[in-house]
Amino acid sequence: MVKSKRSTEEYIILTLSGGACVAILPFAIYRVVIADWAVALLDIIAVLGTGILYRYVHKTGQTDIPGKILACLCLIVVFTTVYLKGSQQILWIYPALTATFFLITPRTAATISALFLVLIGFVVWPEINLFTAIEFYVSASATLMFSYAFADRMRHQHKQLEHLATKDPLTGAGNRRALEEKLMEMMTHQRRNQDIPASLILMDLDKFKAVNDNFGHAVGDEILVEFVQMVEDRVRTSDTVFRFGGEEFVVIAENTQLKDATNLAEKLRSEVTDNPVLAKYNVTISVGTAQFDKYETAFEWLGRADKAMYQAKDAGRNTCCVAKSPLAKKVPVPSS
Ligand code: GH3
Ligand code: MG
Ligand code: MG
Repeated sequence: MVKSKRSTEEYIILTLSGGACVAILPFAIYRVVIADWAVALLDIIAVLGTGILYRYVHKTGQTDIPGKILACLCLIVVFTTVYLKGSQQILWIYPALTATFFLITPRTAATISALFLVLIGFVVWPEINLFTAIEFYVSASATLMFSYAFADRMRHQHKQLEHLATKDPLTGAGNRRALEEKLMEMMTHQRRNQDIPASLILMDLDKFKAVNDNFGHAVGDEILVEFVQMVEDRVRTSDTVFRFGGEEFVVIAENTQLKDATNLAEKLRSEVTDNPVLAKYNVTISVGTAQFDKYETAFEWLGRADKAMYQAKDAGRNTCCVAKSPLAKKVPVPSS
């Protein structure tokens, strides 16, 4: 379900590897027909390499290593072609240089491309006159600079857009949309890896309306920011914090048993009462924890944690409650 949406990186690698595979294939056939074996072998390696990368990325969605391999493959194939066939092949350098900027980070691409241009100079230099050499280096450098500027800008804007689309602007926690995406991803992952547990901690600030009424909305905002900071400092890097609603937050703890998630929830609950900023306004939280069960949907999982959290409210607030299993009753955990 989640995998039907491909990332930008996947699209770029699929387009470049698929396009290169189809574009080089006729040249490979032509080289075989005219018995130009060295270039034929190179073209066949390029067709197979790009074809395998296309298949791998299409199947797994992995882009990091395939992107690097494809960038290297582009430059090596073009370098070898120019080496074997001479300076009339230098036109292939331009698309190869441009492609690297879409496959690896702009800085790495710029470094590798500059090195590539120096090396290619040794190959073509004896064959071309000074004017052609200057023309080649100026045009290749211009391509390099435009590609760098464009790729760098594109990455920057992509990061900004991703941040806007997935983060809560006040607290910096993941927003509800990011939570829903994470839940869908977790459900797919959990069904495939049933032995790896995952737990969810749902926290609601108690009587927060009264905090706003008594101290003002700005103080309320400050408390929310401080609370998220405190939670993020306490959880592991593999745990993710989301703002589920106004004063409700969720931690998704991957690879975590219910017992450990409940210990963490209890620590968070007690740290809220110890935190100097939060304690100043008598902030407390009610918490519900639930471990994912393979027979439920991700939203049923969240619903169980929500019910456990409401049970904590009913038990007098400033309490953690555990949702044991989809069929079993939830029992309150005594506060320490
Ligand atoms: P309970 O213990 O039952 O959860 O009581 P509560 O007052 O926390 O719950 P209620 O749902 O009645 O009120 C939630 C309050 O949270 C009301 C709303 O003004 C406040 N709130 C929601 N989002 C924000 C926000 O971004 N900033 C501030 N300052 N307050 C917010
Ligand atoms: Mg509340
Ligand atoms: Mg609430």
